Amino acid sequence: MKPETRAIHAGYDIDPATGALAQPIHLSTTFERDMDGEYSRGYQYIRNGNPNRLELETRLADLEGGHACAMFASGSTAMLSLFQGLKTGDHIIAPSDMYFGIQVILNDIMKPWGLDTTFVDMADNEAIKAAIQENTRLIITETPSNPMMKLTDVKTVGEIAKNAGLMFVVDNTIGTSIFQSPFELGADIVVHSTTKFISGHSDVLGGALITKEESDFFNHIYRIQEIGGAVPDPHSCWLTLRGIMTMPVRVRAMHENSFMVATYLEQHPQIEKVLHPALESHPQHDLFKKQMRGATGLFSFQVKGDAQNAINFTNHLRIIKRVTSFGGVRSKIEHRASIEEGTSTPQNLLRFSVGLEHPDDLIEDIEQALNKVK
Ligand SMILES: *Cc1c(COP(=O)(O)O)cnc(C)c1O
Repeated sequence: MKPETRAIHAGYDIDPATGALAQPIHLSTTFERDMDGEYSRGYQYIRNGNPNRLELETRLADLEGGHACAMFASGSTAMLSLFQGLKTGDHIIAPSDMYFGIQVILNDIMKPWGLDTTFVDMADNEAIKAAIQENTRLIITETPSNPMMKLTDVKTVGEIAKNAGLMFVVDNTIGTSIFQSPFELGADIVVHSTTKFISGHSDVLGGALITKEESDFFNHIYRIQEIGGAVPDPHSCWLTLRGIMTMPVRVRAMHENSFMVATYLEQHPQIEKVLHPALESHPQHDLFKKQMRGATGLFSFQVKGDAQNAINFTNHLRIIKRVTSFGGVRSKIEHRASIEEGTSTPQNLLRFSVGLEHPDDLIEDIEQALNKVK
């Protein structure tokens, strides 16, 4: 079956108890034990499992082409659980332009805990190889990266990891399973912040770890999930599932919209640079064509002038909202440098998450705001 169909049907069936088409939200924290002490209906206690979470995990594993999925309360705690699955004294390799919050987790939480990280440019294969140590266990990458929209050659880095006997993890939050298939290119584990494109309406937090194959490592991840309990509640799972049903259609429309807006910005005299992988001007456009089937709605651009000028531009926008995060149906814009402490992100760069408004209206909004900062 095709992704549009699987996004609606994988792990789903009519509710057997009532015949309801929409799944009920199962709020119960605990489930009845059989007379012989077993749990033949499959559920025992909410931390271990719940029907809404199981449907969500089944759906996500299916869409990604993986074996199984463990769902977490946020993308950040999914990552934290991945790192907790390693041992103190281990070492990992991560991208130097990694999602800022995960860099903070690695530097401020995992480093004192005993996990060492080397941050490298994931476009530099020699630098990746040179960073491998005796105690290296895992390479993680994020592609496209944000906010610089740099791509990792997933196949090549996957080969480097395999040759060195390392696990290879790809954060597919921005690429999405619709436009990018990391498991086919050598990834062992895929991470998603489902808060973004997957849930799609900026109203529910969540994160997922998906494994390509059954492994001792992933069984340990399940223990961390079930014993630690950093799991999403049933209502969050239900909302995320409702979002997934339209995810394939949404990200395709966002790709179209963002490409039109990016093309408009690129020719505008007040714009210094546009970073969008689907534009021919993107330095890794060839890799984009080889590795991705689309670019969703996230990209960055630099407004000529300083940080204040870029911020002033955002202050004049009407439809496009000044908020953090990305992936929802409402367009969002953010001045990244002012929230990334000690960052190398250009001061005049804005990260833009194009939503599902009509691109003509978005372009008109941008036009009038640029006129005000001329
Ligand atoms: C948002 C995001 C995260 C963190 O996820 P939360 O759900 O906000 O905790 C991790 N990686 C990437 C690429 C993200 O965009």
